[in-house]
Amino acid sequence: MVDIKINLDESPAPKNPVTPKLFDGDYKINFHCHPKIACFNACCGNIDIALTPHDIVRLKQHLGLSSGEFLRNYTYRYEMEQGGISGVKFKPVDDGTACRFMTDAGCRVYAHRPTACRYYPVGLVSLRKQDEYTDQQSYALVEEPHCLGHQQARTMTIDQYRQEQGVIESDPLDRGWRQLVLQKKSSGPAFGKPSARSLRLFFMTCYDIDSFRAFVSSEGFQNGFDLTPEQWQAVLASDSNLLQFGFKLLKQVLFGEQTIPIKQTSAQARQHEKGQKAAQLAAKRAQYDVAYEPVELD
Ligand code: SF4
Ligand code: SF4
Repeated sequence: MVDIKINLDESPAPKNPVTPKLFDGDYKINFHCHPKIACFNACCGNIDIALTPHDIVRLKQHLGLSSGEFLRNYTYRYEMEQGGISGVKFKPVDDGTACRFMTDAGCRVYAHRPTACRYYPVGLVSLRKQDEYTDQQSYALVEEPHCLGHQQARTMTIDQYRQEQGVIESDPLDRGWRQLVLQKKSSGPAFGKPSARSLRLFFMTCYDIDSFRAFVSSEGFQNGFDLTPEQWQAVLASDSNLLQFGFKLLKQVLFGEQTIPIKQTSAQARQHEKGQKAAQLAAKRAQYDVAYEPVELD
């Protein structure tokens, strides 16, 4: 079992009413879910599923929708911290609590299902040690009475289960987002409160990738950075590359980290020389102020 002092409120993982025990990847679990089990579909009938940026990219590509259409049709926004950054969760069916992708035969988007669905009944918990911003990955085990998978005779380590569910490959793609959430929730008053526009930029970058692509593709945006045409081409080559760029950009906007080389204006250079961190941060935030209005969600 993992033995570090942590604050679960800082985890990007969805809240669970029970404070979970945390485990390493080599912890053995007993679990098997399959279509012939008596509780088949029970977990999809009452959902509370937070989506990662790559979950949205995979699903909107599979469904042939723009990110805006996907967000409007299938999700709602929730606050990850009061008055701060937002997350996105699956919207259940209009007249109930079931997932919109649940059918009698199982999940309609099984090959593209979200990370949280793949992990269940294991939960991924990103944590930070005190005074550190690097995250440590641990796992929680959720044992709900309706889930009979725990009574099946199949033992494997959490890492073997992650391999089977395909999250070993996909977790690193969303790590930048998890780190941002963790860092934002952990940052003290020194960083100040991000402007409403910075928070909108966070939402667009992490969840509305097609709007973010249009934003990054503009000449005005690209003129602010010291990147070669080949580097811009690589950034825009895939949604996944674009998200990695976006996570770096947000580190710059929200925390003033020099993650992407900026073409400095003389005013910014003077501020830099004076070493006025707060002024630099304000200037950077102003540079990214965008006229993006988040997709209207319920
Ligand atoms: S996406 Fe699929 S696995 Fe996940 S809750 Fe919906 S139906 Fe169930
Ligand atoms: S075993 Fe658990 S995860 Fe599988 S269908 Fe039943 S309730 Fe869902």
